Amino acid sequence: MHHLSHRRSVLILGGTAEARALAAALVAQGLEVTSSLAGRVANPALPAGEVRIGGFGGADGLAEYLGGNRFGAVVDATHPFAARMTDNAVVACQAVGAPLLRLARPGWADHPNASQWRWVDGFDSAAAVAGDLGSRIFLTTGRTTLTHFLPLAVTFVLVRLIDTPDEHFPVAWQAIRSRGPYTVDGERSLLAEFGIDLLVTKDSGGSLTAPKLAAARAANVPIVIVRRPATPAGVEQVSTVEAAARWTVQTALAAG
Ligand code: NAP
Repeated sequence: MHHLSHRRSVLILGGTAEARALAAALVAQGLEVTSSLAGRVANPALPAGEVRIGGFGGADGLAEYLGGNRFGAVVDATHPFAARMTDNAVVACQAVGAPLLRLARPGWADHPNASQWRWVDGFDSAAAVAGDLGSRIFLTTGRTTLTHFLPLAVTFVLVRLIDTPDEHFPVAWQAIRSRGPYTVDGERSLLAEFGIDLLVTKDSGGSLTAPKLAAARAANVPIVIVRRPATPAGVEQVSTVEAAARWTVQTALAAG
């Protein structure tokens, strides 16, 4: 029985709405779910099941953790831009022979206006292009990317973050705190209120933060968007919570 119960247990590398939806779906199907969060956000939305918080200590640390817990399946449902965690998951799961699935929501490349956006590779390119294209910039690329934009010599930068920042920003910057989801009307008001003339964002995908794209289009505000990092080769990947739930149930139960 002890052995079986391990096989029914799964690890979700989380920190996204999809990871929480997957945890709920798997708990409802009777699996033992542990979700892992990085601990970046002060007051995170907690998924169903067990939750552990904090880094593992690189791929080695994750391999050690997996070895100690013997999960029947691992789902990497981290954010599409959480490339380090995704790479570590591949290395660690290979090392201990744990089945791994990548769940990544579709990007915005298929958005109706995507061909009009300025697509760039990386945050330094985004900063360089932004300095040429805008003077009052709305920046929604996330806290960990801000250092790339600090040298920007523009009139104004509005940066939106989930937590109140502790860092000191240049005088031309203003930080606002919010977590979404957003509406097109709300985003339009924000662009107008701050006189924004350029949106700088990244291809996170999903619907919760997409309204800024339509709002920018409606307000004739151009968009600079950072392409996603490449996904590791050879890892099975799905784009929906439903597909991830099917794979996880099959994989975890098959081994038992
Ligand atoms: P990252 O750069 O890929 O990861 C950096 C380090 O943070 C990893 O090496 C790992 O530390 C730790 N880590 C990341 N995700 C973890 C998880 N789910 N559980 C335990 N440790 C984790 O990741 P990031 O871009 O900073 O994202 C951190 C977290 O925020 C992720 O859970 C991600 O899903 C979520 N998130 C990220 C974004 C984004 O835009 N990047 C947006 C929304 C949510 P060790 O090496 O010590 O294990």
